[in-house]
Amino acid sequence: MISEIKNVNVWIDLDEVLADTVREFLKFCKTKIDLKVQREWLYNYFLQDVKETWLSKEQFFDLWKSFVQEGHTKSVPVIEWSYQLLSSLKNNWNKIFVITWRHDFERSNTQYWLAKNYPDLVDDLIFTNFLSSEMKNKSEYINKYNIQVFFDDIFDFCKDVALNSNIPVYMPTKPWNVHYQDLPANIYRIQTLNDLIK
Ligand SMILES: [Mg+2]
Repeated sequence: MISEIKNVNVWIDLDEVLADTVREFLKFCKTKIDLKVQREWLYNYFLQDVKETWLSKEQFFDLWKSFVQEGHTKSVPVIEWSYQLLSSLKNNWNKIFVITWRHDFERSNTQYWLAKNYPDLVDDLIFTNFLSSEMKNKSEYINKYNIQVFFDDIFDFCKDVALNSNIPVYMPTKPWNVHYQDLPANIYRIQTLNDLIK
């Protein structure tokens, strides 16, 4: 399947497509505020929308900022198969755009992590500033960067892009998207990135 994607611009999301971030962030939240939420229980990716956390958007953002400022995003593990996915895409003359919900203040840590784990595979890195007042809608970038294939794990982002474009959207199954059924026709659910490589 991956071999059919050739010579186009590909959007790859960062957290939970390339980076195994949520697991590490929840460990951090447990040490900071004794948050006892487990990854498998998360029916929404953003903690302010998970009732059991009792966190406001501002509290969630403060925790995330501390997580970044203490350097944790420089050492999160990679998602299995993701290196192979990026290498295969790159070998097929695609351009890789990593477009993320993260924020401009995270640029140096994010660049460090990408260079360490995916050297010479990423063509551009774009921050949509999701938790800040400068937040941009992800679908705005589809035309701007002439994106032809989209990978993301957050259903609302996938739906936004799927309904505002005709491009194929690949959504790896995660606890926060597993319950969505009746997906738009151009959203393809994959269990792991290996489903695309084999
Ligand atoms: Mg993600």
